[in-house]
Amino acid sequence: MTNCLAYGVHEAHTDLAPLRIERRALRDDDVAIEIAYCGVCHSDLHYAHNDWGSTIFPCVPGHEIVGHVTAVGGAVSRYRVGDRVAVGCLVDSCQQCAACEQGEEPHCEKGMTPTYNGRDRQTGDTTLGGYAQHIVVREKFVLRVPEALDLRYTGPLLCAGITVWGPLREYGVKQGTRVAVVGLGGLGHMAVKLAVALGAEVTVITTSPGKADDARALGAHHVLLSSEPAAMKGASSSFDFIVDTIPRKHNVNPYLMLLARHGKLVLVGALEPLEPIHGALLALNNRSISGSLIGGLEQTQELLEFCAEHQVLPSCELIRMQDINAAFKRMETNDVKYRFVIDMASLEDGEHS
Ligand code: NAP
Ligand code: ZN
Repeated sequence: MTNCLAYGVHEAHTDLAPLRIERRALRDDDVAIEIAYCGVCHSDLHYAHNDWGSTIFPCVPGHEIVGHVTAVGGAVSRYRVGDRVAVGCLVDSCQQCAACEQGEEPHCEKGMTPTYNGRDRQTGDTTLGGYAQHIVVREKFVLRVPEALDLRYTGPLLCAGITVWGPLREYGVKQGTRVAVVGLGGLGHMAVKLAVALGAEVTVITTSPGKADDARALGAHHVLLSSEPAAMKGASSSFDFIVDTIPRKHNVNPYLMLLARHGKLVLVGALEPLEPIHGALLALNNRSISGSLIGGLEQTQELLEFCAEHQVLPSCELIRMQDINAAFKRMETNDVKYRFVIDMASLEDGEHS
């Protein structure tokens, strides 16, 4: 076991604070990673606040992890000390069920092991995430960061990126697909960049008038303000595919209305009860609505390669670990452009101050 410095919460609604945690001794198929950067996902905030009632305290968030390999177990074949690697939202699964065999590890029939707030499959210990100096992860769940990706901007691909990449790929978004992205935050801005890179015609639907210029700078072709009824009405039945990233309970009906014939809305943000959906809106135009949860390992590696090749990088604001509480507050008040990334070297500053 090794001991390292981390940031976490001991109970809901308290600030994150430094704490020391243990990382397990290397198993044969484990990779030890020194964490260089970790993205800050809105889910980190949901867990820290126990919004979903399932947080195991103390909780160390962080599932957009990038860094370098520092040691490998005896049976590890794909990684060597010094390799640039990444870890996303899951660190284990049964590896035997149909979902795991088909590369859909998040849907493991025995339950996947999340990077934090889960239980280690062998010991039952609580998993602790990437707001830390080091992490130990089973080789299968470690991804390779292509040389062409700047490590500082890679972390957010591991959750924000893959969560929208999965549905974009599943739907088959391509040249000319009319895509709308609801909510221009961490997930939303990646959906815009990725859909544009796939050749789609992209519209951002936002509550924030001030984000219109940014949306265009990110590559969006059009911007709709959801608070403008006339503009929303004018866009009725005009999109093939909508990605809804709104992070809390909301009314989906105004967005469903925007779907064209056989259009599909994929909900990735609000993992909680929604306001009632109007059945007639689904029947008209044969619309459908579905959800999507992060993505499997193979597809996440595919995303990393795609982003390296097309130089699609998240727009990040680098912060020090000590600034995390201010960052959470800014995320709560919708003041992030468009993903905070923690420079983990800053953790040591806290040690000596
Ligand atoms: P974020 O950076 O805070 O962005 C959310 C965006 O939604 C905001 O920038 C804002 O965009 C819009 N928004 C916020 N509050 C709203 C409201 N009350 N009504 C309408 N729009 C609102 O969050 P994120 O990191 O992208 O995460 C989004 C959600 O996805 C979170 O709930 C997170 O837990 C969830 N998530 C799900 C998965 C999955 O596997 N399905 C994976 C990762 C995260 P505008 O200013 O443009 O309106
Ligand atoms: Zn996340």
